[in-house]
Formats: sequence, structure tokens, C-alpha cells
Amino acid sequence: MTVFRKSKKLFGDAQRVIPGGVNSPVRAFKAVGANPIFISKAKGAYLYDVDGNRYIDYCLSWGPMILGHAHREVLDQVRKVMVNGTSFGIPTPLETHLARMIVQAIGSIEKVRLVSSGTEAVMTAIRLARGCTGRDKIIKFIGCYHGHVDHMLVQAGSGATTLGSPSSPGVPRDFTKHTLLLPYNDPEMIGRAFSKYRDQIAAVIIEPIAGNMGVVPPADGFLKTIRRLCTKNGSILIFDEVITGFRIRYGSVQEPFGVKADLTCLGKIIGGGFPIGACGGKKGLMDRLAPSGQIYQAGTLSGNPVCVAAGIATLKLLKSKGTYPALGRAAKELCDGIGKALSGRDIKHTINRVGSMFTVFFNPDPVIDYVSAVKSDVGRYARFHSAMLGEGIYLPPSQFEACFVSTEHKHKDMGKTIAAARKASL
Ligand SMILES: *Cc1c(COP(=O)(O)O)cnc(C)c1O
Repeated sequence: MTVFRKSKKLFGDAQRVIPGGVNSPVRAFKAVGANPIFISKAKGAYLYDVDGNRYIDYCLSWGPMILGHAHREVLDQVRKVMVNGTSFGIPTPLETHLARMIVQAIGSIEKVRLVSSGTEAVMTAIRLARGCTGRDKIIKFIGCYHGHVDHMLVQAGSGATTLGSPSSPGVPRDFTKHTLLLPYNDPEMIGRAFSKYRDQIAAVIIEPIAGNMGVVPPADGFLKTIRRLCTKNGSILIFDEVITGFRIRYGSVQEPFGVKADLTCLGKIIGGGFPIGACGGKKGLMDRLAPSGQIYQAGTLSGNPVCVAAGIATLKLLKSKGTYPALGRAAKELCDGIGKALSGRDIKHTINRVGSMFTVFFNPDPVIDYVSAVKSDVGRYARFHSAMLGEGIYLPPSQFEACFVSTEHKHKDMGKTIAAARKASL
């Protein structure tokens, strides 16, 4: 029986001084009806909690730790840089280095602005799109998450193309009324939205592979349809690649899908576990940002040497040959094993996987959009999560999140995980 005594006490302490006891909501384990574990340290594929339990980690800080935790070479670079000062608010050569690595890796990016989170990257992209087009409306897809920026915190109204209404108190309706919500993977609906609002749409923002309703890949041709409509109507196409950037391959998923975004948002992996974000695109567009242009964007800690050094070290390691095929093979082995374990017990499920990101949906039908995703059995996911936790496997504490594999996950870790799935009481 796994003991969580210290975690439970620490959660009580935290709840007295931190809202909900956590600094980001999903960490509270509410979606799986449990209490969070508190972590004391992590190394490679493993997390260690304050009660001394060890877990194989498939959440990886929600994606960034693609090289595993506390990677020696990343930490060495960070240490080397930080003893010389951690932030100056003055340029350093490292920023140009990371920017150049991003520009070289992603064909649609000629210039890139570094920020401190994925949310900020999206804020920047949206302001830029609105500023450049002189239009207000943004198309967003239901189930995609783009950070906690006001205009993006909207949920579906009654009809699929109704104007968005805020999904959080504190977000003025005046802000979200410019956000149009459409179902993911539905080319017909986006065609209709464009015929209705053609010259009012500043941008379409999309996760090219959705990760925030659980993993949902784009249907054949869906991204190309969006690209075509944006080009035809003078709207900016924003790819939110905060998860997919450097996750599926070295760079972006735009090349394999054969679609170029006008603006690309990055985060997570490019900071190697430190707070970072980035927004990049063609020169002509990016130069509209201050100080070369009029569209304002700024950040006290943007491009600080510590985060940037971690990002550079991470990207350098990821670039080595064979990294991504190996990650994909490991994730496939794992998903095949879990799938067999569940099928062998007649447990209805659907596994969506792209490279090293995947979700096990407790759903007998294909998951292609938000509506099909939310038909999953969340009670069963909660039991799965709890049973796996008890066996030393850490999965994201919600059915509607992506699981990730790192370069440090070994064959024996997959084996242990599959064995746990075979006996988990569901
Ligand atoms: C995580 C995430 C964000 C927000 O990034 P933060 O660093 O948490 O602000 C934005 N978009 C997507 C697709 C994400 O997964």
C-alpha cells in the first residue's frame, strides 16, 4: 500500500496560503478526485515524492522535460551561466544563439521574440495578428488550449459558430466576443465561418496536433484547408506549438503536414524546464513588433541567460541523430502494451498517439474532437490514475491531457507500466 502521509499534510499546509494549494489548477488532482503528491526530487524518468515513493513520470512537467529530469548536461550549462548573473535586462549573446537555433530549425520562422511563458507567446501572436490586419476576430477551436490569456478563455456557446462567451469570471464579454469557436477537425464549419466573417478575421489559432483535450491529431487535409482559407482571406494563421515544437521532431510539425504557419508559438521544450516562450514568423510580420514596429510587447525577464542556456543545451542534445525515432518507438511500445493490457480485460478504450505524445481515452469510439473526447469515462480514468500511482506510475491527473515519453524512459520502465495497466482495478 503506497503511503501519501507527508504529501497529504503538505497539501493541507499549502491550502492555507495558496489558493487551492497549487500554483496551477490541474495540479490539485481534482479531475481524478484525489490529493496531489508533493515532489522532493526527480532524475531521468523518475519522480520521488516526499513520502519516499518513486514514480515513472509520463507527465514530464506537462511536456518540457523531454530529456528527462535533471539532465546533467543541461544543468552544467545552466550552472556555468548563472554564476555570472541571472538576469540583466540588457541583451546577451545567448539570446541570439537560441533565436538562431529556432530560425534554423523552423522553416516558417525568420525572426523570433523570446518571452517567459507559452501564454505570453500566444498573447504576442494575437496582438501581432490584430495589429497587422487591423481586424479583431480570432478563430479558435473547441478543446484547444492557448494559455490563460483573456481572449482565449472561451467555451462553446449553443451553436458551433456562436461568438465565444467567457469560461472564467473576470474575463469581460467584450474581450471574448471577438473569439469565434469552431469544432476541431471540421473543415466545413471553418469554411462557413470564413464566408460569414471573411474580412473581419485577424487570425486562426490552432494546436496543429491538439494536446489539451488529450491528444487529437488533425484529420487529413484539415490544416491545409485552414491554410488555404487564411491565405485567401488575408488572415494570419497561428500555430500554437507550445507542446508540439521540438516534441515530434527537431523543429515544428509544419514540414510533415506540409503547411506553413504565419506565426508560431513555442514554449515548454525550448526552455528545457525553465520558464520560456517564443513567438516567431516571417521578417515582415515580426518587425511590426516594437521597437522596429508599433505593436507593443515587452518582458523584464525575457531572454534571461538562465532559461536561454537551458533551452540551448536541450535543443543541442535533441538534435543528435536518432533521438526522435527512438522516442517514437518507445512510446509505441508503451501504447501497444497498454492497449493489449486493456483489450485483454475487455476494457473499452482508444489510444491516440503521435510520436512521443499520447492519451489513453476510456472511450470505445474514435476521439477526433472535443465532443468525442468528453464522452470518455472520466470515472474510470480516475481509477486508472489512482491504481497506476499506487504502482509507481505518474500519469497526468486528468483524462484530457497528453502523456509524454522522454529519452530517459527505458524498456524496463515501459514493461513495468504495462504490467501495472494489466492489473489496475478499473
Ligand atoms: C502549455 C500550453 C500553453 C501555455 O503555456 P504556459 O507556459 O503554461 O503559459 C499554450 N498553448 C499550449 C498548446 C500549451 O500546451
